[in-house]
Amino acid sequence: MAEPQTPRPGSLHLDAAAALSHLPITLRVIDANYRLIYTNQTWNNGQIIWSLPPAQADESILLKIDDATRRAIWQHCCDRALDGESCITTIAESSFHFLPISDVQGQPYVLVIETASPPPQAQRDIDDQHRVAIEAIPEPFSLCEVIRNQRGQIVDARIVAVNTAMCRLTDYSYQDLSGQRLLDLFPNFAEDGVFGELRRVVETGTPLRRQATITTQSGELRIIELCVVQIGDGFTGIWRDITAQVQRDQQWRQQAQLFDHIVDAVIGTDLNYVITSWNRGAELIYGWSASETIGHRLGEFLRTHFSETTAEEAMDTLLQTGRWEGEVEQNRRDNTLVPIHSVVVLVRDEKGAPTGIVAVNRDMSERRHFEQLLMKVNQRLEEAMIEAQRQANEVLLVNELHDLLQVCQTRSEAANVIAFSLQRIFPRQIGYVLVRQTGSASLNLLAAWGDCAPTSDPITIDQCWALRRGLLHRACPEENLRCAHIPPAYEDCTCCVPLVVQGDIYGLLHIAGRDLPRSELIVMTGDAIKLALSNLDLRAMLREQAIIDPLTSLYNRRYLETTLPRELHRAQRERSPLTVAMVDIDYFKQFNDQYGHDAGDTLLRELATIFREHMRQSDLICRYGGEEFVLIMPGINSVTAQQRLQQLKETVQHRPITFAGQLLKPVTISIGYTICMPDEDNARHALQRADAALYAAKRSGRNRVVRFSEDIPLPDEQRHE
Ligand code: GH3
Ligand code: MG
Ligand code: MG
Repeated sequence: MAEPQTPRPGSLHLDAAAALSHLPITLRVIDANYRLIYTNQTWNNGQIIWSLPPAQADESILLKIDDATRRAIWQHCCDRALDGESCITTIAESSFHFLPISDVQGQPYVLVIETASPPPQAQRDIDDQHRVAIEAIPEPFSLCEVIRNQRGQIVDARIVAVNTAMCRLTDYSYQDLSGQRLLDLFPNFAEDGVFGELRRVVETGTPLRRQATITTQSGELRIIELCVVQIGDGFTGIWRDITAQVQRDQQWRQQAQLFDHIVDAVIGTDLNYVITSWNRGAELIYGWSASETIGHRLGEFLRTHFSETTAEEAMDTLLQTGRWEGEVEQNRRDNTLVPIHSVVVLVRDEKGAPTGIVAVNRDMSERRHFEQLLMKVNQRLEEAMIEAQRQANEVLLVNELHDLLQVCQTRSEAANVIAFSLQRIFPRQIGYVLVRQTGSASLNLLAAWGDCAPTSDPITIDQCWALRRGLLHRACPEENLRCAHIPPAYEDCTCCVPLVVQGDIYGLLHIAGRDLPRSELIVMTGDAIKLALSNLDLRAMLREQAIIDPLTSLYNRRYLETTLPRELHRAQRERSPLTVAMVDIDYFKQFNDQYGHDAGDTLLRELATIFREHMRQSDLICRYGGEEFVLIMPGINSVTAQQRLQQLKETVQHRPITFAGQLLKPVTISIGYTICMPDEDNARHALQRADAALYAAKRSGRNRVVRFSEDIPLPDEQRHE
């Protein structure tokens, strides 16, 4: 800016001073201490709306201004002018133009020109036509001229003209904006570099487009996009309010960030399936990055196979309801397929018109994997439960076998129970149970079940690996050692369990079938069988021991006492006679004395043998005690009885008996007998009669057979009955 022609204070030419005094404006010159050193006449005649009283030469003019705000404005404007900048302000109805001036020594002064509003410059630059044109611009618009300091540097810009849109944007009125300095209204332009760039626009002529923030008069922060072009010694600017858009963008960015944290693929397309968004989830699931996919058609990447519907039906649903959800299968970048649960939504604009599609796709492969795993676990659990149930049933059946065997009286009963129960325990197998005869090396069939037992012939211990080793032995064809007792061509698997009791082989449980039951069950069954059978044998042995005389193996007296009443009943039933004979060795004491007790025992055994030889199957022979025996012979008459007993006596007498290689002297026996008639039922009486007859035989010389007769005396007890 050119150096202004300044009046020289204190040395103004009289004519010039008079001329200045008659100007229709008020002129003041103020020094660096705000002292009024000159004023023209106009001020004095009171035509000016606002004026100052004449100041003392040494007094600051500011002291004369009562209003604090006006005082601050005056001081601010004077300071600027003293710094070399011109400045305009409006106070009430007047405009004050502060211009920097200096004297010849270079001392700075301020020339204040006071006129009635509006400021002359604005009025001069913007005519009505221009104003209409500016108003026609739909966006906020400003026209500014730069303010330079004395060195010509751009220090600010003055707003020359604005449109109504600009007033709306900034909340200021036209008057608030017009003629004002830009940095006064928007001081942040100085700090955030906006003003520096505006300055460059004017200096270089390069247009500017940038984002900036302004504070409106009401204190609201607005984000604007400034588009500035240089014009003359100033610039025009379009101030586009992008606050809402920036906020939207920010929201969108936040959403995009959110989408990136979603593991699901979020894919946006327009209506032509051109991809508009592709989140991190989509990158992870499908293998393509956002930069590769956005802007391309979806079909270039993904092939979708619908499982429950067709693509057309899915599209129909989407268009009709705005949403489709379902299961699909899609390819990854490496062409492997991924199961997807897809939710597709139609995106609409404010008017409801569709603008695009957003799909949220969930990778179901892991879930499918877990579902399958869960199904497998469930299946296994179910199988385990069925197996447990089956095993419990098997145990119940084995317990049942055990209980049934406990009440069996004989082996044949037990054999029936075993065949019946093993058919139930092992319904899909066949098999048999063999038992060993005491002291024998072979085992015989006790029971078998199933349609075709492999063999029921006796086997020897040597023929079975299980018996030889005392361990369970399973064998399948060509897999393991086969026992010799199994037919060579046999095709199924077999299992042999030795039934061992107290270290002795008792028997064998043999099972065969296409598939074999678990070994525990077979062993458990074998245990139940062997215990029951050995118990049965033990019971039989004990029973035998209780009724058999160990020396002669004949029945003992106890057995006779329980059996004779039964025999009498039977004789009664059958209406047939029953012979009861009592036998005693003659002079046995002497025999013992002569040959010794052992020889006596041998004689007793020999007699038992002779009795067995002479007696019929239906007869009963008992050792009654010492060297006395009782013979029961049902169904024969007295003549036959006499004959047979006589024969017996003869046989004994003539049977040569040796002991320790020595032939012993012949012995004789005496026999007394009685014939019970069918109405007889007292066993004791019968024995007493036989005994009485024996006594008679002894008395009459021994070695004879005597039938009881009425003349033979009985014990007192019977006689009195
Ligand atoms: P009698 O002709 O009168 O029957 O004379 P006896 O000697 O046979 O009869 P006695 O009753 O006087 O003697 C019976 C003998 O039988 C006495 C006893 O030593 C013997 N005796 C009894 N039981 C046994 C046995 O189990 N073994 C042996 N060796 N002798 C026995
Ligand atoms: Mg005797
Ligand atoms: Mg005797």
